[in-house]
Amino acid sequence: MAAISMRNIVKRYGDGYQAVDNVSLDIADGEFVILVGPSGCGKSTLLRMIVGLEDITSGDMLIGGERVNQKAPRDRNLAMVFQNYALYPHLSVYENIAFPLRLKKVPDAEVKERVTEAANLLQLTEHLDRKPAHLSGGQRQRVAMGRAIVRQADAFLFDEPLSNLDAKLRGQMRTEIARMQKQLGTTTVYVTHDQTEAMTLGDRIAVLRRGVLQQVGSARQLYEEP
Ligand code: ADP
Ligand code: ADP
Repeated sequence: MAAISMRNIVKRYGDGYQAVDNVSLDIADGEFVILVGPSGCGKSTLLRMIVGLEDITSGDMLIGGERVNQKAPRDRNLAMVFQNYALYPHLSVYENIAFPLRLKKVPDAEVKERVTEAANLLQLTEHLDRKPAHLSGGQRQRVAMGRAIVRQADAFLFDEPLSNLDAKLRGQMRTEIARMQKQLGTTTVYVTHDQTEAMTLGDRIAVLRRGVLQQVGSARQLYEEP
C-alpha cells in the first residue's frame, strides 16, 4: 500500500485558474520523492493539498490507504518544513523543537527524550539553549527540521526548504536532509524548482509542468538516458 496516493487530483482556484491538472502519483512507504518544475507549475499547490492546507477540487488523496480529502491538517499526522523556518524568536532551540509536542501535551520526560534525539541527529545539541536570532541560517533550518522529526509524522513535506541559504550551505543541507531521511526512513515529498537539488536528492523525481505531471522516474532515467 502506498504511503501517499494521489488519484486524478485537480485544483481549480476560485478565479477559475486550474493549477493542478489530473495528477496521479503513488509514493511508497519510506520513499523520497522530489516534485520539481518551474515556478508557478503547481508544486506548492499539490503539496498543500497533501497536507490539507488547500481544498481538492476533484480526485482523491489517500494517506496510508485512507481517503483524507475532508480531513483537517492536524488530523493527517504529516510534518511540513517551510523555507522561512517559522521559528519562535522568544523560544530557545529546545522549546522551538519541542513546540508541537507541547501542543499535544506530551509528558516532559518524553519531550526531553525526543528533542534530545532529534538534536543529536541534527547536530544541534550544543545550541539547545540559544534563541533563533543567535543561529546561522543552516542551524535555523535544522531546528525547523527538528520540529518535524519530533512529531514522528507519517511523512515529511518540504516546500523549497533551502532557497534562503547560500549555495555552499545549500549543498551541505542537501546532504544532511538525505542522510536524515535515510536514517529515519520517513516517507518524504520535497518540492523544488532547482534541478541540481532534484538530481542529487531523493529516490524518484516527479516533473510537473503547468499543473500536469509530465514524467516520473529516477534521476538516471530522467536526465542521463538519451
Ligand atoms: P509553484 O509552487 O510551482 O511555484 P503554485 O502551486 O504556487 O506553483 O502555483 C501554481 C499556479 O496557481 C500559479 O499560476 C499561481 O499563480 C496560481 N495560484 C496559486 N495560489 C493561488 C490562489 N490562491 N488563487 C489563484 N491562483 C493561485
Ligand atoms: P524537569 O524534570 O523539571 O522537566 P528538566 O531539566 O528535564 O527538568 O527540564 C526542565 C525544562 O527545561 C524542560 O521542560 C525543558 O523545557 C527545558 N530543557 C530541558 N533540557 C533542556 C536542554 N538541554 N536545553 C534547553 N532546555 C532544556
